[in-house]
Amino acid sequence: MADKNLEFLDIPRRMPDEVPVAVRIEGWGEIYGVYDAENNVEQASRCLDCGNPYCEWKCPVHNYIPNWLKLAEEGRFHEAAQLSHETNPLPEICGRVCPQDRLCEGACTLEDGFGAVTIGAIERQITDTALATGWRPKVAPRVAGKRVAVIGAGPAGLACADRLAMRGIETVVFDRQQEIGGLLTFGIPPFKLDKAVVKTRRTVLEEMGVVFRLGVEIGNDISIDQILEEFDAVFLGLGTYGAVDGGLPGLELRGVHQALPYLIGNVNHLLGISDGHPLIDVSGKQVVVLGGGDTGMDCNRTAIRQGAKQVTCAYRRDEANMPGSRREVKNSKDEGVQFLFNRQPVAILGQNHVEGVLIAETELSLPDDRGRRSPRNIPGSETVLPADAVILAFGFRPDPPTWLRELGVGFDRRGCAMTTPEGSPLAYQTENPKLFAGGDMVRGSDLVVTAVYEGREAATSIARYIGL
Ligand code: SF4
Repeated sequence: MADKNLEFLDIPRRMPDEVPVAVRIEGWGEIYGVYDAENNVEQASRCLDCGNPYCEWKCPVHNYIPNWLKLAEEGRFHEAAQLSHETNPLPEICGRVCPQDRLCEGACTLEDGFGAVTIGAIERQITDTALATGWRPKVAPRVAGKRVAVIGAGPAGLACADRLAMRGIETVVFDRQQEIGGLLTFGIPPFKLDKAVVKTRRTVLEEMGVVFRLGVEIGNDISIDQILEEFDAVFLGLGTYGAVDGGLPGLELRGVHQALPYLIGNVNHLLGISDGHPLIDVSGKQVVVLGGGDTGMDCNRTAIRQGAKQVTCAYRRDEANMPGSRREVKNSKDEGVQFLFNRQPVAILGQNHVEGVLIAETELSLPDDRGRRSPRNIPGSETVLPADAVILAFGFRPDPPTWLRELGVGFDRRGCAMTTPEGSPLAYQTENPKLFAGGDMVRGSDLVVTAVYEGREAATSIARYIGL
């Protein structure tokens, strides 16, 4: 029998099977399959249980990774799911969308030389399997007389609602969209996260007692004053929906689109929802995507599936300094996206409609104290990249609603809500004591899993604040 601690020598890292490129770009389904029982056991058994679980520390929610890998190896999916949910309210979602190569798997002891344990794929499979076979998170008996409102049904809001419901606290989640998930549903394309997964999570939360009031716009359909009167505390997880446009000349030209309306319009179209984000169809077009983060990769791959004639992604640094997940860059390349590295857009060109992007070549400075290398345009290097659709994926900034500014909440100069720091007894409390906030609207645009972490932690503070 193989030595338990040396199984990684015999069993190579293996991701679940991928849908072949030629098939996947014809549709919108997730591109990774699932392990069969044997492969799941094998891949989970590769964990060394090395005693220094750097993976746990690198995981923003500090999952008990080696422990639930062991349970998965033994086929004990319900216990594995229970343990997984102790730290992560949305494990099946993080297992799909986290950039594991930069987080847990990047810190795995086996990563150097043998290939990291496939932590994300196994995390996803544990909860998918457990939910499909009847497991549900444990919930404490209902606490009488305490009610909390959550505004925003994105990852931070859902994580907060989950933890409040687990404590037996009556929780009502408000969202302006008709479905829960925020960017999980409307921003992240279905080939990364099937929308049925989010719907299943909605059912689970409802079974835990969470009430969703969807299609409700605060300030129009219900006032924040009414919410503050009806509830003992409020959590805000409003995300970052303002676009960074880079101030380029030519932004007003037809055919120039912001990433978020582009992605939302596509998902709405697929889900049959009409809410003011129409489909932007780039089929047959020469598309240029500007930006090298995960949102840029989502736009690249969406454009490919829409049938763009060509998709070119331009990024101002080199490939090694891209901010997004390596896996998503690889997937983009596999699916036919052309990359231009060390290219900075200078202007968008055209008469009424976009005709091209003027881009300069860049060189990188030496690393600053955070290790980032700044791009500098090389004089005289400008060329025109022909385009008849341009998608801007430069990032997002907070866009706090007017009603929030009138409640005494403080904002920093980026527009992020200011809260008490982590480690304080009431972390994530705003300057209005009844209002707590977390996720992107506090830290700026970041990962799903960091929003999950902050929603989870804010729930602990809220419970304390309402005396539980
Ligand atoms: Fe890795 Fe993300 Fe899961 Fe943490 S939550 S173990 S970082 S996939």
